[in-house]
Amino acid sequence: MESINPANNQILKKYKNDKQPAVQAKIDNAARVFPYWRKTSYSSRANLLKKTANVLLNNKEQLAKLMALEMGKPLKEGVGEIEKCAWVCNYYAKNGAGFLKDLPVETDAASSYISYQPIGTILAVMPWNFPFWQVFRFIAPSIFAGNCGLLKHASNVPGCAIAIEKAMLEAGFPAGVFQTLLIDSKQVAKVLEAPSVRAVTLTGSTAAGQQVAAKAASLIKKSVLELGGSDPYLILKNADLELAATVCANSRLINNGQSCIAAKRFIVDRSVAEKFTQLLKEKMSSKVMGDPLDPHTDLGPMSRIDLRDELHELVLQNKKAGAQVLLGGELPEQSKNNAFYPPTILYNVKKSMSAYTEEIFGPVASIILAADTQDAIAIANDTSFGLGAAVFTKSKREGERIAREELDAGACFVNSLVKSDPRLPFGGVKMSGYGRELGLHGIHEFVNIKTVYVA
Ligand code: NAP
Repeated sequence: MESINPANNQILKKYKNDKQPAVQAKIDNAARVFPYWRKTSYSSRANLLKKTANVLLNNKEQLAKLMALEMGKPLKEGVGEIEKCAWVCNYYAKNGAGFLKDLPVETDAASSYISYQPIGTILAVMPWNFPFWQVFRFIAPSIFAGNCGLLKHASNVPGCAIAIEKAMLEAGFPAGVFQTLLIDSKQVAKVLEAPSVRAVTLTGSTAAGQQVAAKAASLIKKSVLELGGSDPYLILKNADLELAATVCANSRLINNGQSCIAAKRFIVDRSVAEKFTQLLKEKMSSKVMGDPLDPHTDLGPMSRIDLRDELHELVLQNKKAGAQVLLGGELPEQSKNNAFYPPTILYNVKKSMSAYTEEIFGPVASIILAADTQDAIAIANDTSFGLGAAVFTKSKREGERIAREELDAGACFVNSLVKSDPRLPFGGVKMSGYGRELGLHGIHEFVNIKTVYVA
């Protein structure tokens, strides 16, 4: 396994994959510590999560630098990501015990209630795009609930994967409660087969989710899938266009366009399309692309050269199919030695084009024109994905109705970018996956919701 800096294609470090005996030893470590860990008190687990938050905050610059080097995230976004990880740790430290409290249910028994019990070791298969956040939003609720965790991180961020385990140990978590496996995707099935590994959570592409979930299903093990998205942002004719364009540009370009809940399809009422497009172009072109270690940089390189090349190919395909390229769309100089790609706008994207149907994972905005609000809603839902969606309108009432009743997605926002928040459940519908992370629902995913009945 190699860490390669996507800003200059230099190898940062090589790592040796864990071979099967080392993987088995880690699985066994987790199984050994679980009976102890599950009996520890909520308050002691909360203390460890609070300490983890402090370790993260004390090292946030260094960890942000690691992300910048391994996957190109600009330093300021990296610092924000680490702060959010500390937030989710503190959130479950504060609220976890309340979420897992026994729930009495009146029946004909002398006493009957629901009790939330940990289930064992959970395997987490995670992507590189938010290399700390994706992992901590799993760790905080699942480990607090008394489970152990094994992480199989994306192959291009082994440094981040190791740093996470180190932070947990430094905070005082007992050895074995959370461990990183340095394995490739072919080794995942074998880990899942271990009897002590009771469930899997995967954040990543739909294709990876399908394979891992199929394996889990064959073993009757639970899976949670947080997969791709092609979030529609509806710009209605009465939208505040300045606000909409600012939010849309930020949402499309966060993490250089490599976010599952980035705005990807901009569905614009035809009557305001010209003005909105002009504003969006201004906002997107004002972003500074450059060295992710420079504090002034808004856009770093994409995470890998091959992924950037695939993205460019897709832009060219859509151009050929008739989409207008209003901004960007060209490879920068020296592109063989870096993964940079400029903010790009594809205008007048049609149903027959891949920018309409596929997830575009990079800084490319697709503008689709809608005849009216009903048409915009129909286009928004005309996708195999259902992760997030947003609607922009000066009528909050109309926006709320559309968000609540019309849009087929896991998180629907009005006049705001779609974002995750430890206090709110997060997850998708359709090919974007199933299950929820974060909030009250997230901590209930990997527990045995046990009925206790005392006659
Ligand atoms: P990816 O290629 O699916 O990789 C994600 C993880 O799955 C990596 O650890 C990868 O390991 C592993 N993996 C891939 N194929 C596998 C297989 N057949 N069996 C077992 N493990 C497998 O996705 P990515 O390119 O890193 O991330 C981008 C995708 O993730 C986008 O579609 C994005 O929308 C989605 N995503 C979703 C969310 C969400 O919360 N819904 C959040 C972030 C990203 P290797 O690296 O070793 O291949």
